[in-house]
Amino acid sequence: MSAGSDSAVGEQPAANLKKATKESESANRAASAPAPSPGASATPGTPKKAVKKTVAKKAAAKKAVPAKAAKETAAKKAPAKQAPAKPAKTAQSAKVAKAAKTIPARPTKPAKPESHLSMVRRARRINRELADVYPYAHPELDFRNPFELLVATVLSAQTTDLRVNQTTPALFAAYPTPEDLAAADPEAVEQLIRPTGFFRAKTKSIMGLAAALRDDFGGNVPGRLEDLVKLPGVGRKTANVVLGNAFGVPGITVDTHFGRLVRRWKWTDEEDPVKVEAVVAEIFPKSEWTMLSHRVVFHGRRICHARKPACGACPIAPLCPAYGEGETDPDKAKKLLKYEKGGFPGQRLSPPPDYPGLPAPPLAAG
Ligand code: SF4
Repeated sequence: MSAGSDSAVGEQPAANLKKATKESESANRAASAPAPSPGASATPGTPKKAVKKTVAKKAAAKKAVPAKAAKETAAKKAPAKQAPAKPAKTAQSAKVAKAAKTIPARPTKPAKPESHLSMVRRARRINRELADVYPYAHPELDFRNPFELLVATVLSAQTTDLRVNQTTPALFAAYPTPEDLAAADPEAVEQLIRPTGFFRAKTKSIMGLAAALRDDFGGNVPGRLEDLVKLPGVGRKTANVVLGNAFGVPGITVDTHFGRLVRRWKWTDEEDPVKVEAVVAEIFPKSEWTMLSHRVVFHGRRICHARKPACGACPIAPLCPAYGEGETDPDKAKKLLKYEKGGFPGQRLSPPPDYPGLPAPPLAAG
């Protein structure tokens, strides 16, 4: 056997070998060339069969890749599109939030006692807030002069300003000056002021102070605290009301509302009105004393009541250490509001022009 019989190539003549090499090169070129479009003709010199095979393979490859990629993309996109999985997320968040709500609050550390400076700052802020809430705060007794204010204030003990306001028009119509009242028939005065309660004792007081004004002050009301407190039935509170509202002398009026509120606000623990007045006088400048008194009393009468404070409707709740002592539900608290805050008439029959509420009805209509 010849050496050329081991390989078919080796056994081919040189011309055949050349032809085969050319064919092989053409096939390779066709394989590496871009795939022809379906209508394109085969590369000249390339065997049709080989071209068809190559084209078919490439087309299949091309088709296969986008299909796979499309599948993958679709798979990737699908969860994104189906991001309406959001509701599921929201539901989960809601669950988490609900769970968080039900987690019992950590025991809070006992609050640090408030420093005096912080209390003073808080107290002044309360005053500013109240000034916004009650820009029309005023004394709630009707009066036209210092004498009427003095008598009305004495009559207001143990009763409401409303009842006094409903009573005094007839009294002042009958006895417009201290001289008139000092010379009146006590029984007639008693009948006139009967609606205010304690009418016998009050008759003695107002007739006594009218006589003192006539005899000691020329029929005028004095404008000094030390003179006022010497008049029958006139204490420090009454004197401060008269000084602050008839004479423009700054004064702090500590009545039942004022005392209750400043203790709730922890301005002081004192029960004695004179001591309360002294503490509050240290917190505020004199220029604020009179209006502060009106604002605090207004708040006590309208929102921060003795038995059921309307905490849920209270504009100074964030500043109040006693928040929660009363009704905290906003709707229920709203129903507890009084006078103009609750849409009702006020206490004065003749309120100042800037009062936003309704005037009180006269006695006969009440
Ligand atoms: S929060 Fe309540 S207790 Fe405090 S001032 Fe307001 S109504 Fe009064």
